[in-house]
Amino acid sequence: MKLQSIEIQGFKSFKDKIKLQFNKPICAIVGPNGSGKSNISDAIRWVLGEQSVKSLRGSKMEDVIFSGTNKYKPLNFAQVSLNFDNIEKWIPVEYSEVNITRRVFRTGESEYYINKKPCRLKDIREIFMDTGIGKEGYSIIGQGRIDEILSSKSEDRRFIFEEASGISKYKYKKEESLKKLDKTISNLGRIEDILNQKV
Ligand code: ATP
Repeated sequence: MKLQSIEIQGFKSFKDKIKLQFNKPICAIVGPNGSGKSNISDAIRWVLGEQSVKSLRGSKMEDVIFSGTNKYKPLNFAQVSLNFDNIEKWIPVEYSEVNITRRVFRTGESEYYINKKPCRLKDIREIFMDTGIGKEGYSIIGQGRIDEILSSKSEDRRFIFEEASGISKYKYKKEESLKKLDKTISNLGRIEDILNQKV
């Protein structure tokens, strides 16, 4: 699995649509301070489902949308797409290329797509779970993150190892199943109440 390219439009400082193609095994993004390097890694985490505005260095989700300059008006939406090669099927879908897109409007509306088909944020999170590139993935290491990992609580460090070793998907599925079980138990209780009333 390889990140082949990223397309950004209206996200933070990127007013116009740009496409970054990663053709070599190792690629570096260089540029002067404030030119938007970190905005690119923010864009990658955002499209993978990052919901924390603080970790995207903003105060509200709207802050990810191009806010305008002296010369240009603010835009009404931001959109980011990632294109992966999936020949080895690391991402558990049938396609050998996977495109993930997230779009947000100033009105607050959000849209998610997998290979151009509308989906839920949950679907994106699930297909990347245990690939190591989820929003909490250890493949994106932000400034100061190494210190944070080293100094964090042992349970938090354990979480990182769990994702790396591939068991977080099963923990997540267990939690989802327990929630469904709870709901079923409460539905059964209601049915029993109704039946008792009728008797
Ligand atoms: P450094 O090398 O100093 O870490 P950098 O290249 O990583 O810098 P970024 O932090 O990615 O730079 O970009 C910061 C720039 O992005 C600032 O000029 C800021 O004004 C701009 N920016 C952030 N959010 C928006 C937005 N919503 N609309 C327009 N510009 C934005």
